[in-house]
Amino acid sequence: MNQIERLSVALDDRRYEILIGEELVAGAGRHLAPLLGDRRVMIVTDETLAGLHLGTLERALEDAGIAAEAFVVPAGEASKDFATLQQLCERLLAAGIDRRTVLLAFGGGVVGDLTGFAAAILLRGIDFVQVPTTLLAQVDSSVGGKTGIDTPQGKNLVGAFHQPLLVLADTGILSSLPRREMLAGYAEVAKYGLLGDAEFFHWLEGHGHAVVEGEPNALRQAVLISCRAKAAVVAADERETGSRALLNLGHTFAHALETECGYAGELLHGEAVAIGMTLAFELSAQLGLCPPEDADRVRRHLAAVDLPTGFERLGGRAWNAARLIEHMHKDKKASGGHLTFVLARRIGEAFVSRSVEEAQVAQLLTETIA
Ligand code: NAD
Ligand code: MG
Repeated sequence: MNQIERLSVALDDRRYEILIGEELVAGAGRHLAPLLGDRRVMIVTDETLAGLHLGTLERALEDAGIAAEAFVVPAGEASKDFATLQQLCERLLAAGIDRRTVLLAFGGGVVGDLTGFAAAILLRGIDFVQVPTTLLAQVDSSVGGKTGIDTPQGKNLVGAFHQPLLVLADTGILSSLPRREMLAGYAEVAKYGLLGDAEFFHWLEGHGHAVVEGEPNALRQAVLISCRAKAAVVAADERETGSRALLNLGHTFAHALETECGYAGELLHGEAVAIGMTLAFELSAQLGLCPPEDADRVRRHLAAVDLPTGFERLGGRAWNAARLIEHMHKDKKASGGHLTFVLARRIGEAFVSRSVEEAQVAQLLTETIA
């Protein structure tokens, strides 16, 4: 009961721990006090979390004798912009932060990316703690130190690498997360199985439903395995000069779909990733690199948990293969005119390829759209 899992992200002088379990928000004071001593905490959160769970966090810090103040930003991707960053930084400076002040990001990936970036630049860098509250943030964005904001030119184009002091992933807090957000996070969970851990994917085929339904043991296990996978990749390649690129499985397709749909919520990132991973396995099968049965398994599992795997659930839009490929070329991950894809030899064995012919991508997209 109430088991807490601990992982550490091995980054020499910036090694940090990830704690995973239920009720970590209610117990936050106990986990933070030894690390922070008498340092002041500035909580950054969004309006949704402020309405649902901020009181619990504030009480936990207060009970542990930690002085804290909260700063609330509007919920949603639009808060990852220069205007919100500027306001946040100015409010924090006006509140008298100093180099020992610790920011605490309490929210999903939006709050985590924004707060982490503010921490990276305020006073030339102060410490921050991640308390991720979406499945996506727990298994992906809170681990690895990428922080940043969006600009009119694209997502995450302004940012910094800044690692947190600690990550507290409270799986119990996910019980208030809307189902659609839970599923979107699940796509990134499945990704870890597909890119490097066939056994985990097999486990998900049996337990995926329990994970998305929020069954505590299944959820804790899924977050643990996912964070362990992400931590290992990050420790091996913090700045994405090599193997970290495997985490982009499905993302070349996903980013093109997101560009096409815009970021107003028509298609969540995780939903785009589910479609993208299905297409990446289908492309791999079409190129003769991967058994077609594996591509079928990917599609079947993602569909079984109710994630989209093709264009059929994105009706009403005139999809166009050439335009999607154009979006891919504009993606920051396309380098030297070559599209980069993460392909697979089988489930659990992905690799990066820069030699996929555009015509083959166009053929797959055209068949999928039809
Ligand atoms: P989000 O932060 O917008 O959260 C989704 C919605 O859920 C929001 O409306 C939020 O208010 C609400 N919410 C959060 N926790 C809740 C809870 N416990 N109960 C009820 N509602 C809750 O979105 P997200 O999917 O968590 O994160 C997406 C962002 O993460 C994107 O900006 C993306 O670029 C970024 N990201 C960053 C990295 C990285 O490495 N830094 C990796 C992946 C994604
Ligand atoms: Mg992603």
